[in-house]
Amino acid sequence: MAKLNRIPVLRCAGCNDQIPLPYQIQPNTSEIQPYWPKDEQNLSLVCRNCGHTSVHSAQDIHLEIADTTGQQLPQSLFAVVVFGCAMQNCYLPIRVHIRIEGGLTRQAIIELVLDATPKPICAAGHTLSKESVQEQVQILDWSGKTPYLT
Ligand SMILES: [Zn+2]
Ligand SMILES: [Zn+2]
Repeated sequence: MAKLNRIPVLRCAGCNDQIPLPYQIQPNTSEIQPYWPKDEQNLSLVCRNCGHTSVHSAQDIHLEIADTTGQQLPQSLFAVVVFGCAMQNCYLPIRVHIRIEGGLTRQAIIELVLDATPKPICAAGHTLSKESVQEQVQILDWSGKTPYLT
């Protein structure tokens, strides 16, 4: 019999689709530990189904049986795109998360984030724009060894 795994998901505020988060399973307790950006209260997530940017807090995470529209995309790729806010004297990071399929170029991933609505913002409330500095595209392991949880 197939085992139904519950995985951490966030719900898109635009289309209500479930978007799985990368996670690790604690070896001793079997507890699921979802990805969360280090030292951040909120996580900005762009939905690949509708292009909506949702801002979530950790309390928004639900454990759901892994069966969502989003499953059509391979589970293993989840990207963090970091921009530098381009407003004068701001320079705060704008960190955006998005599920991606394999083979996308760095620029294609950045374009997906730039096309999202509403636009992601920095901590000071400035809007992401084409002028924002494209700093980093990091691909997270789905349930792997990336030390993002420590
Ligand atoms: Zn959506
Ligand atoms: Zn800013």
